Amino acid sequence: MTQSYQMLIGGRWVEAAGGDHLASEDPYSGKAWAVIPRGAADDVDAAVEAADAAFTAPSWRSLPASARAALMRKVADLIPTVADGLAEVETRDNGKLLAATRGEVAALANIFHYFAGLADKIEGVIAPPEIPGVFAYACYQPLGVVAVITPWNSPLLIAAIKTANALAAGCTVVIKPSEFTSASTLEFAKLFERAGFPPGVVNVVTGLGAEVGERLVTHPKVAKIQFTGGSATGRRINALASGGLKKVVLELGGKSPNVVFDDADIDAAIRGAIVGIFSSSGQSCISGSRLLLHRSIHDRFIDRLVALTKDLRIGDPRRPETQIGPITTRPQFDRVIGFLDSARAEGAECVMGGAALDGPGQLVQPTVFTRVRNDMRIVQDEIFGPVLSVIPFEDEDEAISLANDSRYGLAAGVWTSDISRAFRMTERLEAGTVWVNTYRLLSVLLPSTGYKESGLGSENGQQNILNFMKPKTVFLNHGAQVTAPFIAT
Ligand code: NDP
Repeated sequence: MTQSYQMLIGGRWVEAAGGDHLASEDPYSGKAWAVIPRGAADDVDAAVEAADAAFTAPSWRSLPASARAALMRKVADLIPTVADGLAEVETRDNGKLLAATRGEVAALANIFHYFAGLADKIEGVIAPPEIPGVFAYACYQPLGVVAVITPWNSPLLIAAIKTANALAAGCTVVIKPSEFTSASTLEFAKLFERAGFPPGVVNVVTGLGAEVGERLVTHPKVAKIQFTGGSATGRRINALASGGLKKVVLELGGKSPNVVFDDADIDAAIRGAIVGIFSSSGQSCISGSRLLLHRSIHDRFIDRLVALTKDLRIGDPRRPETQIGPITTRPQFDRVIGFLDSARAEGAECVMGGAALDGPGQLVQPTVFTRVRNDMRIVQDEIFGPVLSVIPFEDEDEAISLANDSRYGLAAGVWTSDISRAFRMTERLEAGTVWVNTYRLLSVLLPSTGYKESGLGSENGQQNILNFMKPKTVFLNHGAQVTAPFIAT
């Protein structure tokens, strides 16, 4: 049976004003399982107006920060009561392993507790007395309506992080999830009602990027855009938003190098390489999709990596034994297959996988290419699938030169037992996050950003709360004589 969803605008669950719908497919069965409203400009306008009205209403604007934090903690406390259902919806909609979506949902409670903890710790600045009779200070005020635009690979986690950041600062939000994976965000939005948030503080409008997304980005009452997605879309959003001089934060794609030296713990590095690229079937911005191997270990490393990987169980993401699930969307599946063809055409050697699997689902074999050159498309472009390119290197300088020869700079891994080398490499790698002897760890406690075309601005960490606020400087005369006009002081 098909599940039917509505959008959340101004505290009401509604259909799109135009009455249109989109079907959401289960990437494993290939069948439509849900219907979501296909919003348009009118719906965005209604949602932004609702968010703007909520932003200025005393029920939100005058709420003490501690009370705002308490509301956020209620959301955190409600998450365990709906966690199983949320994880199942996410897996059904985007095909990620149920074990992985359960982990992501469990993280949401911590995220909301963390940002709730920041809400009442936003402090201003009092300037030391300089002018007798004048009290000068700066305080921080929330920016206003924040547009949250999310991709299909981790829709709920990404929406939750951005929303929690914004709410902690006292902003209101309009969330636009990916047209392919809107269901979990709509389910999650119910928690804000249950927690007692004033209507309009959190809104969700579903629909297409070109329709709902662009209207949101250009709406005059949207103060900030908090986006995660592909670099091409990010560039377009930045260009559109610049007309209104809006604040924009872009978390974009990656082509991250995972660099293994000959002094590394090779077993650990092999596991790190596998988890780096094949988790979420490679549909992860931080995928370690470029494996740089010291030449002396290249052949045996590949032999063992292939031996470990060829037995991975591919299939239904709901089954506990499955290790690789489907590609989330049909266009993305076609794109990944296109890269497999182009890699061969460019002369790369496929030593494992290299094809789609028959049967239900958009399943692609874990794939490893060797004999790749840095100028090939599979090395330079983000594939966003289970495709690993392996490149040998001679020494640290060559490893750095290959690793940094990319227009992306999201993340990087280094495997070595030499602590000095580890420091040198972390210093020289052009990436917002660098792991040493591990891969894929993330924390909302620390800032995350992308270098080069991987992003603009940053998210997370204590300081980031101020990026959802604007400073206001006040000079308060309580006794100084007002200067006579036209006399310079
Ligand atoms: P897209 O850039 O295609 O889409 C992301 C979101 O933007 C979707 O909600 C999409 O809507 C919307 N959108 C599309 N076009 C526009 C537009 N013109 N104006 C406004 N909004 C628009 O990315 P994907 O969904 O394909 O996600 C994969 C990408 O996300 C990868 O490149 C990946 O690396 C990146 N990503 C980055 C992360 C990071 O933290 N750096 C984390 C996770 C993913 P619709 O779906 O309807 O088109």
